[in-house]
Amino acid sequence: MSEIADRIAEFFAWISTLVPAVVTPDWAALIGLLPLFIAPLVLLWLLSTGGIWTLVGITKRGAQVKIGAPLPTPAPIGVDGRPHFPAGRPYDTSEAAIYPNGSTRSLRGELLLIACPGCLAVRVAERSTCDACGLELRARTPIAVERPAAPPPGGAARA
Ligand SMILES: [Zn+2]
Repeated sequence: MSEIADRIAEFFAWISTLVPAVVTPDWAALIGLLPLFIAPLVLLWLLSTGGIWTLVGITKRGAQVKIGAPLPTPAPIGVDGRPHFPAGRPYDTSEAAIYPNGSTRSLRGELLLIACPGCLAVRVAERSTCDACGLELRARTPIAVERPAAPPPGGAARA
């Protein structure tokens, strides 16, 4: 019977040596180990955010803006049966087409002509200043954004 009591006393003695190690730990040693706990957390955070941003970069759809080409309009036919090109508008004689203001090349890449609205002298549309009278044409080309022909796939059908 006393053997069991000795075992129990040994057990409580062992417990009494274990409890202070948990209740009052060696703070200096634990503080020394702090980088070992924090470094993996920081590394894990960096990897996860980097991975998420990599996934976003790979899978994002991005802006799908389609810029419309400046479409020429056919020149009106004059009384002499030839196309009439109004002054101050770029035009192409081979296509008999009038281009939007600010255009310098046709859809085929050829240089456009323009008649000066001041003196009717004809020059290439790339030159903004008239050689004859010095009139300068400043045309800002508006950017035409085309709407998509149909809504993107998915949407209400996907929901
Ligand atoms: Zn001129």
